[in-house]
Amino acid sequence: MKKTTYSSAGHHLKDSGAIGVNGRKENEETMIFRDLVNEELVVMGRTVVQDKDTETLGQYLGRIEPTDKDVVIEPHFNAFNGKASGVEVLVADNANDRSKAMAKELVAGYAKIMDIPNRGVKTESQSARGKLALMRKKGAVCLPEICFIDNASDMAAYDRNKMNLACFTVKVIAKYDLN
Ligand SMILES: [Zn+2]
Repeated sequence: MKKTTYSSAGHHLKDSGAIGVNGRKENEETMIFRDLVNEELVVMGRTVVQDKDTETLGQYLGRIEPTDKDVVIEPHFNAFNGKASGVEVLVADNANDRSKAMAKELVAGYAKIMDIPNRGVKTESQSARGKLALMRKKGAVCLPEICFIDNASDMAAYDRNKMNLACFTVKVIAKYDLN
């Protein structure tokens, strides 16, 4: 059986998410990043389950059934006051060890690749979001907040390193996906 990864964008066409520098929209940026990651996963011979751009998170989550061995990942961009900088990766309050290890590796790698602050792994209740439906899924579940979309230097670092970040993400997914 082919290995399956669950890799979705943070926001869909009817939900822009955060608006950042130069009007950049979180939904568009997360769809682009998702596609970079997923195209490479497909090249590696993996099966990728992803959201449709027209689908809400609820609709997507309602039709996927990852197992304990799978990886579930959904990139977002953070937004605050235009000055906050850095990457964080969110996990469930009751995250399993594989989720925590994957999140730690992602946050450290993203910080290094972009040369921005490592804000660490945070639990959903430590985040501004509180509870995250994605975190109720089985598997190694991580929600990277890649950088701050409202911070011009974060986004410049992201733009310079987008491909590296996608390749690194694929490597980490392949390491933690057991199925
Ligand atoms: Zn978001």
